[in-house]
Amino acid sequence: MKDFKIAEPQTIDQVTSLTIDKKDMYKLMAGGTDLLAEIKDEIIEPEVIVDLKSIPDLSYIKNENNGVRIGALTSLTRLAEDTLIKNQYPALHEAANSMATPQLRNMGTVGGNLCQRPRCWYYRDPQIECRKKGGTSCFASRGKNKYHAILGGGLCYIVHPSDLAPPLIALDAEASISSPKKDKTIPLENFYILPKVNVRKENILEPNEVLREIRIPVAKKGEKSTYHKLKERGTWDFAVVSAAVKGTVSGGTFRDIKIVLGGVAPVPWRLTKAENMIKGKKVTEDLVRKAAREALKEAKPLDENGYKKELAEIVLYRAALSLV
Ligand SMILES: Cc1cc2nc3c(=O)[nH]c(=O)nc-3n(C[C@H](O)[C@H](O)[C@H](O)COP(=O)(O)OP(=O)(O)OC[C@H]3O[C@@H](n4cnc5c(N)ncnc54)[C@H](O)[C@@H]3O)c2cc1C
Repeated sequence: MKDFKIAEPQTIDQVTSLTIDKKDMYKLMAGGTDLLAEIKDEIIEPEVIVDLKSIPDLSYIKNENNGVRIGALTSLTRLAEDTLIKNQYPALHEAANSMATPQLRNMGTVGGNLCQRPRCWYYRDPQIECRKKGGTSCFASRGKNKYHAILGGGLCYIVHPSDLAPPLIALDAEASISSPKKDKTIPLENFYILPKVNVRKENILEPNEVLREIRIPVAKKGEKSTYHKLKERGTWDFAVVSAAVKGTVSGGTFRDIKIVLGGVAPVPWRLTKAENMIKGKKVTEDLVRKAAREALKEAKPLDENGYKKELAEIVLYRAALSLV
């Protein structure tokens, strides 16, 4: 492992004013549960780690008139245990409780979870120079691809590993970003980018931009939400396929519905076509499966991951039916 220095900024401005004169010179660190693993495995070799935990006041869950604000440095444990989140945004509560181990949830943060790097075994292998690391091939496309993307792949078949991203997008969350140019707040849905936009990264952030806060609007009257996650093992594991569903329900129908899948694509994957097919109709297993099948027609499974289409139907109808 190469030596590195640690910078301890006291303000976000000190981070955004860093001069990025050399690619990958600086890396931001929150809880370090993912970043330090990447450094130990020699996947990345930054000269300076910028420890965001030295900046005060980035860990909070605040309930305000127009919704809830969650600081990027809020720990996953705090999110998982928060009563307001549990009562108003069950999908987020369920996702926070579904992930990793208690130790990782103590160290890991909301911002770090949303910005974590992919778990693809070719990407995580220091001996392999895949396209995401500047090489010319995606080895998953013809190699071992059981856990890889069935949608949105092409140049690179990673799946986005964050369990928080699908429910937050379903809940219409926004991301506030501090930037050297101009701070901005954007829908979290627009935060993630496909490999065809930039195969080297998974979101829009530049190296000296900081994800500062997540904002979730007040839940509408009658709004319900849930997060269902299918894992290969009973103990801690990433989602093989997951579904976040949010909507207002009356008389067994969704008046409005938002569906976001995890584990199927390099970004959290919105199923707009399925939403339109389900909205306003009596919810049955048959209807939801049909809607999922229709929406997943564009999926292009690889040799070993065709099973994810069937799993997506299953996880979606279980999630949708649990809300009506
Ligand atoms: C054994 C194991 C099991 C796991 N299981 C799950 C699981 O089931 N579900 C799941 O979702 N995750 C899982 N994870 C991943 C875990 O949730 C992440 O490692 C953790 O959330 C990362 O948070 P962190 O604060 O430690 O981030 P760090 O490791 O500090 O950072 C991760 C990345 O995000 C960037 N970053 C961090 N904060 C910011 C910020 N505010 N602004 C801009 N960039 C930032 C860093 O530069 C880095 O690239 C697992 C990890 C392990 C090791």
